Amino acid sequence: MKKLIDKLAKDQTLSKEEFIRIISGYDKQTSDYLFEKARAVRHRIYGHDIYIRGLIEFTNYCKNNCYYCGIRCGNKNAQRYRLSKDDIMFCCRQGYKLGMRTFVLQGGEDPYFSDDRIVDIIRTVKSCFPDCAVTLSIGEKTHESYQAFFDAGADRYLLRHETADSDHYSKLHPEEMSLSDRIKCLYDLKSIGYQVGCGFMVGSPYQTVENLADDLLFIRSLQPDMVGIGPFIPHHHTPFREMKSGTVELTVLMLGLIRLMLPDVLLPSTTALGTIDPMGREYGILAGANVIMPNLSPEEVRNKYMLYDNKLSTGGEAAENIADINKRMNAIGYNIVVDRGDHIKSKKKEE
Ligand code: SAH
Repeated sequence: MKKLIDKLAKDQTLSKEEFIRIISGYDKQTSDYLFEKARAVRHRIYGHDIYIRGLIEFTNYCKNNCYYCGIRCGNKNAQRYRLSKDDIMFCCRQGYKLGMRTFVLQGGEDPYFSDDRIVDIIRTVKSCFPDCAVTLSIGEKTHESYQAFFDAGADRYLLRHETADSDHYSKLHPEEMSLSDRIKCLYDLKSIGYQVGCGFMVGSPYQTVENLADDLLFIRSLQPDMVGIGPFIPHHHTPFREMKSGTVELTVLMLGLIRLMLPDVLLPSTTALGTIDPMGREYGILAGANVIMPNLSPEEVRNKYMLYDNKLSTGGEAAENIADINKRMNAIGYNIVVDRGDHIKSKKKEE
């Protein structure tokens, strides 16, 4: 196993069979060895800095019906909300004061937020906070829409591919959604010039070891700037209510593998990881992650953006507790920094 990890560190890739061998046969020793290597790479490129992103969940209306997601349109129990532009600006001001220089606008696919409305929000945020990056995470749109958002000043886009296997994709999504549409979006975003993030859930229903190996190879070929990975966690008002959560061990293994495969990737230690284990965020950082995304949404809506059961939005997840979050990071040898936290290659392009 150690040899395979050395090989990955050296070549930045492995064959599908080799990835499968690691994923199906790893033990604690393998993981520890991997994480040590992953941290060494991360320290060489990003030092001990942790970038923070203020996550603003601005709408939980969604026209899609993904089987895993708590804000799917089929969940009639969800209490729906939308933030106004003023609400969003209020969140940004709070975040700015807390040292955030990236705002992530995430939401369901909500037709109320037309391109014009999104463009207006991006322009306003960018004109009030010219030293900040805006990341969008609002699902599948046309090339034209993505271009309009980019022209308005959006810097980055997160769109998890969810799984790189189309059969598996169809077990997680209703018929009208397809992996090929999702992948086209990712390539559109890349060609427009966004810093792009893909990603997937670990332990999603019906996921196989092969699927995970394919996810890694897909990521390797897309060469994204960011990769979002967290464990699947069931939501009690979805068709997957009875399914099991993904594990911390496998999630952090995947983080470590991705760090070695894409040395300079921006890799968040996600809320979902913090939700399944009180030390999840720390374990993610220690496996090679270098980003955290505290919740900046107004308190009264936080418990409504419930993608999965028990999703954290207080304590160490809440932006207002940034000092505590920093203490926790200091305790494992890392520091939150006041920085846009761009992908290192994009930084070079701008200089
Ligand atoms: N509508 C946007 C944002 C989706 S929510 C989009 O389509 O990109 C962001 C991510 O949360 C999803 O991409 C999915 O991977 C994750 N997510 C949704 N439901 C989840 C669950 N039950 N457990 C863990 N992660 C989940």
